[in-house]
Amino acid sequence: SRTHQPNPEAGAAVKAADRAHVFHSWSAQDLIDPLAVAGAEGSYFWDYDGNRYLDFTSGLVFTNIGYQHPRVVAAIQEQAATMTTFAPAFAVEARSEAARLIAERTPGDLDKIFFTNGGADAVEHAVRMARLHTGRPKVLSAYRSYHGGSQQAVNITGDPRRWASDTASAGVVHFWAPFLYRSRFYAETEEQECARALEHLETTIAFEGPGTVAAIILESIPGTAGIMVPPPGYLAGVRELCDKYGIVFILDEVMAGFGRTGEWFAADHFGVVPDLMTFAKGVNSGYVPLGGVAISEKIAETFGKRPYPGGLTYSGHPLACAAAVATINVMAEEGIVDNARRLGAEVVEPGLRALAERHPSVGDVRGTGMFWAVELVKNRETREPLVPYNATGEANAPMAAFAAAAKAHGLWPFVNMNRTHVVPPLTITEAELKEGFQALDAALSVADEHTE
Ligand code: PLP
Repeated sequence: SRTHQPNPEAGAAVKAADRAHVFHSWSAQDLIDPLAVAGAEGSYFWDYDGNRYLDFTSGLVFTNIGYQHPRVVAAIQEQAATMTTFAPAFAVEARSEAARLIAERTPGDLDKIFFTNGGADAVEHAVRMARLHTGRPKVLSAYRSYHGGSQQAVNITGDPRRWASDTASAGVVHFWAPFLYRSRFYAETEEQECARALEHLETTIAFEGPGTVAAIILESIPGTAGIMVPPPGYLAGVRELCDKYGIVFILDEVMAGFGRTGEWFAADHFGVVPDLMTFAKGVNSGYVPLGGVAISEKIAETFGKRPYPGGLTYSGHPLACAAAVATINVMAEEGIVDNARRLGAEVVEPGLRALAERHPSVGDVRGTGMFWAVELVKNRETREPLVPYNATGEANAPMAAFAAAAKAHGLWPFVNMNRTHVVPPLTITEAELKEGFQALDAALSVADEHTE
């Protein structure tokens, strides 16, 4: 239903069936209480009890064009009416056009597109391509990263979620990428942090054996782990190390890509071209599952006469590709990437800096475009997180209180560990942002009560 008419009975039925039969991601099934959602449009969604929320999360940071964009909904309906599905070995209009529009926007010579169903499988295939291309086994990836929930992708991930399945992580080595706010005993400036991180990475390569390293994978701007914009020169430095040692450079743009940072791809901020680039989420705003790997000429050549041993039944699904074609066209024609860049610089950044001045619980504010993190701390001097990092993911009181206060003020916040991320749809308006910032202000006052 797209009406805001409350219907608590219908909501209760949706909730009861969910609780009886839906097994939720990343959760202790008996400890969760999912909100029953009745509808969504633009930057908002609403429940069955008549509550409306401004969505500062874009779902899981994927509805870059907001909910129910009429042109994209119409394109999906039209594709469903003409060719709902078709097997991947054929040339199909929606798939061809989606690949062309994506290749036109990816940096450098990343001109061949392998389609997947989402981000994790894109990462899995990028890593497989790198291993086959180099004939080497190992993958280096950053602590404080997220690359997906499937077996290989979760092992590559640099956060505690990998611990539970880490026995299968053979060949994955983690390194310590730049994050000045948490590296202050080793570096005082971004320049020093950049040098520290590059020297550390080269030492890691040396100790692992350069001839054993197939790939280095990095998010261009790490998202889930805290939106750490790398210092200028870092990604270019990694590119140089990859060239020096014959290592494939994979940039993961699943979250940062398709306008999120105020450029089509986050790599564009740094002028760096990887050998492989993964994408998903914003490619079609998650209206139909889609992801992929953009492949450089050099790696595509490896699989010119030799088959690539991998594929998916739904690779380049016509419905998902039609949604991508419409989304990319909408983004280009409606200036949505520019909107993210402009409102990020003119409204979000100054708004967050003003909140940081007023609220002792704000330890750090960082980001770009519509991609911002606010780090909540108990103590600004020691930078102790508002609650200890909690590896088991249990709800923790101060952050839960912060989130509850935001929701009571009509804002749905993104919360991860001791951070809240400001990652709304790129189509958000200035007035909506200001409304969200008022709610954030109130919620941060609750967080302040937990500082010392
Ligand atoms: N890579 C990055 C950078 C991500 O942020 C995510 C998801 O948040 C993934 C990969 C995994 O994508 P998916 O959940 O579509 O498998």
